[in-house]
Amino acid sequence: MAGIYIHIPFCKSRCIYCDFYSGVQTALLPGLIDALCIETESRVTDLNGEAVKTIYFGGGTPSLLQKEHFERLFDVIRRTYGMEDCAEITLEANPDDLTDDYLRCLSELPFNRISVGIQSFDDGQLKMLGRRHSARQAYDVVEKCKRYFSNISIDLMYGLPGQTLESWKHTISTAVALNIQHVSAYHLTYEPGTGMERMLASGTIRAVGEETSVQMYGMLAGMLHEAGFVQYEISNFARNDCFSKHNSSYWQGIPYVGVGPSAHSFAGDKRRWNIADTPEYIRKTKQGIACHEEETLTEDDKYNELLMLSLRTIRGLALDEVERRYGEQRVTELQRQCRPFIGKGAMTLMDGILRMTPEGWFISDGILAELFI
Ligand code: SF4
Repeated sequence: MAGIYIHIPFCKSRCIYCDFYSGVQTALLPGLIDALCIETESRVTDLNGEAVKTIYFGGGTPSLLQKEHFERLFDVIRRTYGMEDCAEITLEANPDDLTDDYLRCLSELPFNRISVGIQSFDDGQLKMLGRRHSARQAYDVVEKCKRYFSNISIDLMYGLPGQTLESWKHTISTAVALNIQHVSAYHLTYEPGTGMERMLASGTIRAVGEETSVQMYGMLAGMLHEAGFVQYEISNFARNDCFSKHNSSYWQGIPYVGVGPSAHSFAGDKRRWNIADTPEYIRKTKQGIACHEEETLTEDDKYNELLMLSLRTIRGLALDEVERRYGEQRVTELQRQCRPFIGKGAMTLMDGILRMTPEGWFISDGILAELFI
């Protein structure tokens, strides 16, 4: 089984915290669709005949595309890869694009999952982040989505400057009240080159303290758990088994083809990434000129990746897999390295499966740095 990721590198405006590759030059959209169709078709051999199980339109803002754009892309995927085995087809969408007419159009396309970028149900925080919707609009949009989708995810952010525990609690309880299937929640990171990072550096805003961050993460996990969500990954929560199949594939090392500017792909021991320059991507793809770089993973890279991907999920890391792939000595060393984290309650080892606890997930970067080769 395999996945296809399609990157739409346009946004109506840029949010001040975001470092995803996207720009506001939407006039390039027709050219982009042509190039995406060409690239999608040309990449079919990358999957070695594996059936496509998931398709994900991400960005940027894929909800800027019109019905005919999606139809062209689905037509290429259906003709080239086949969609008979597709179990999950997700669209990332911004609330302000989801009008009644647009949702009706989407319902006539093969999408069966929508992921809405809400970030907060606090108007002050939405304004500070540069989002174009209000808390009320976001709530109403998700209610409308329910008429067309039975699998709805929302994105939230915490650890925002000025965000109080009370305000975060309000955002989580509003998410719970929506009675949706999936929540992804990310702590704000001050990415280099973003407006948010400059504001932090100039002292215009202050980062939340670590203690508050830990409390916010605990509140998130606790409230969603009480509401029947399973935390199946560091930042992802689902109910009714609605785990994201596409993202779960990434974490299981399943191959995927990423098309579009800046999109990443993975196949076995190879990673590749497309040029992060939309005009150049369009020009070169139309001329049949390669515009990507790639690397072959070393055995050490693969080991580190196995740790990083499996320990971020509740699936955890099976020690017998480590032994089969890397030998007994590696398992002994790994167990020795994990002992202090198990002692602190940040990891568990049960029935030969090594897992991080929710406390461990919060400090996972530090733990993984200790475990990596
Ligand atoms: S957060 Fe989403 S909408 Fe905002 S700039 Fe980034 S990709 Fe665009």
